[in-house]
Amino acid sequence: MHMLASVLGALDALPWTWGVIFGALLGLIWGSFAATLVLRWPAGRSLGGRSACDGCGRSLGVRDLVPLLSARWRRGRCPDCGAAIDPFHDRVELGAAMIGAAALAIMPGLAGWSWALFGWLLLPLALLDARHYWLPDRLTLPLAVIGLVAGGALLDLGIWDRWMGAVAGGLSLLLVAWGYRRLRGSEGMGGGDPKLFAAIGAWTGWQALPFILLIASLCGLGWALASQQKGDTPLVMRRIPFGSFLCVAAWAGLPLWPLVAGL
Ligand SMILES: [Zn+2]
Repeated sequence: MHMLASVLGALDALPWTWGVIFGALLGLIWGSFAATLVLRWPAGRSLGGRSACDGCGRSLGVRDLVPLLSARWRRGRCPDCGAAIDPFHDRVELGAAMIGAAALAIMPGLAGWSWALFGWLLLPLALLDARHYWLPDRLTLPLAVIGLVAGGALLDLGIWDRWMGAVAGGLSLLLVAWGYRRLRGSEGMGGGDPKLFAAIGAWTGWQALPFILLIASLCGLGWALASQQKGDTPLVMRRIPFGSFLCVAAWAGLPLWPLVAGL
């Protein structure tokens, strides 16, 4: 515990510029892992790191595993078989770096590190839901536990508010899912959404949940309207990766929440 306290103290005391730089670098490393996870897990493949070329099985060395730079060195292809390196890796690495840099730029100190951690944990969930409509328990459960244990610095909330957030988040969406089933006789929501919202509440506390739900719903509706094409299934029947919108709303809406709450 002593060492953890000194690490946290050092992170908290970092000058602004170094916070932003470290946030971006840690994000790059995490993004490299997250991209591999999102590409491989749904296909049932090993998650033990990206160790071989997807085309020919050539073992990857240090020069192949540097976030962003490897794809430049290799000109986007495996030097042996010419298989293209999926640009998804680059995008996720860049996204995770931006989460870290933005969090530490807007909220310096421990609150910023908490916000970055929250974003890094939400990132693979948002991507898996967008690509596969899948919110695995093995990601939502750790998100909830880490939120309860370490989420206090984020909005300066006590453990009671965050416990209430987890309970209220889970119950509210379970209730919505139940009501939808009663009214329409079909599933309107994936089973992972209430768990995700519970995990979000464990970080943000119960107070911010209606705000996050409102933003997520507006974004989801806007996306559905914007992507609606002639001949698509009617809007009310469309499948929307609502979990992805919850992740985006929870992370991006967070610094706005104290302003909204203060109105
Ligand atoms: Zn290859």
